[in-house]
Amino acid sequence: MAIFNWRFSRRNFLAGGSVFSALAGRAPRRLLVSPGGLTGTPAAPANIYERLGVRTRINAKGTYTNLTGSLLPPEAARAMEEAAQHYVVLDELQRVVGERIARMLGVEAACVASGAAGAMVIGTAACLTGKDPEKIKRIPDTTGMKNEVVIQKAHRYAFDHAVRNVGVRLVEVETEDDLERAINDKTAMLHFLNEAQNQGKIGLEKWAQAGKRHGIPTFNDAAADVPPVSHLSDYNKMGFDLVSFSGGKGLRGPQCAGLLLGRKDLIEAALMNNNPYEDTIGRPLKVGKEEIVGMFVALELYLKVDHEAEWKDWEARLDAIDKMVSSVPGVRTGRFVPEVANHVPHLYLQWDEKAMGLTKAECMRQLEDGEPSIVCLGGEDYQYGLAVTPFMMKPGEEEIVGRRLKEILSAAAKRQPA
Ligand SMILES: *Cc1c(COP(=O)(O)O)cnc(C)c1O
Repeated sequence: MAIFNWRFSRRNFLAGGSVFSALAGRAPRRLLVSPGGLTGTPAAPANIYERLGVRTRINAKGTYTNLTGSLLPPEAARAMEEAAQHYVVLDELQRVVGERIARMLGVEAACVASGAAGAMVIGTAACLTGKDPEKIKRIPDTTGMKNEVVIQKAHRYAFDHAVRNVGVRLVEVETEDDLERAINDKTAMLHFLNEAQNQGKIGLEKWAQAGKRHGIPTFNDAAADVPPVSHLSDYNKMGFDLVSFSGGKGLRGPQCAGLLLGRKDLIEAALMNNNPYEDTIGRPLKVGKEEIVGMFVALELYLKVDHEAEWKDWEARLDAIDKMVSSVPGVRTGRFVPEVANHVPHLYLQWDEKAMGLTKAECMRQLEDGEPSIVCLGGEDYQYGLAVTPFMMKPGEEEIVGRRLKEILSAAAKRQPA
């Protein structure tokens, strides 16, 4: 099984290196090292970002929306291009693709949303309005509807704005007793943040069970929470009525796509609250035919990936970086795997900032300002200091990241008083 077909581009990438070295005297430096320009052919024109004057980055950080999430596999990109050349009825496409996705994942129903946040808007709306056309038109004015959503205090996050958009009031709870007391005849939904599953006092299963016990729909936002691949159906099987995933994070689908998975009646109601229907809360959350098709193909590809081999490949690429940076005196390294979101191998780097005369922040700045520009994990309160993951890198980029880190750290080590 393939680890996407990036395997092929890896070969091109490595072969391309020598071609470009041979051109070193003529080609502009930017083209030599920009990974976007390394297509393996010497005549490769500047890529769209170079033509626009927008810097591309090597993503050693993970799936972050401001860093444009993930890269679309060529098969999905081609499917989007093909989808763009024909007219269909959007509604029909959404239903057909939704049914295929549901079957593929073994969940009751599914639809393609504009992202995980978009899925949260139309999913919450579905819990308020059901299929009632009057209510669908009325929200975010929730007059005459259940309009409270219960959430654990530890699960409050920036994205709960997507839930609040629908016009509901968030009711915060901490304990199971709080939850029982908070539920009343105004409760429309119980919202859960998957990533915070070990932070709140009420766990996943208890949350889903409370919903079942009271006949109130439960929503789990698992936006960035593949791998593992099983998460795509785990939460629905556990009893959550609705689950959201980002299309453009670990699933490597289109940026402006996401999945809403769950109960058939709620998915149908969510679709009625969405584009293309005009007088709806979801009309600004348009998902076009290109995204719907791209999401479907990306998901198909993702399910075919040999995830075990992919994991080993990530480890091997971290080994390569580790070997390079560990050779610098004073640099210690270690590995970790975040528990839920970006659940992939990471390498962290530690050094004595004072002794080396180099802060983590300065190292990050040099990585980002260098050529090519590299973005990694770190920042003020980051517990690991500075970390990298090959999860969202292109094949071969680990060599560039390792070399550059070694360069920056070696320069600092040399400045150290003996
Ligand atoms: C990224 C993220 C979202 C938003 O996902 P989009 O697909 O960009 O809309 C929502 N919730 C969590 C926890 C996320 O990490």
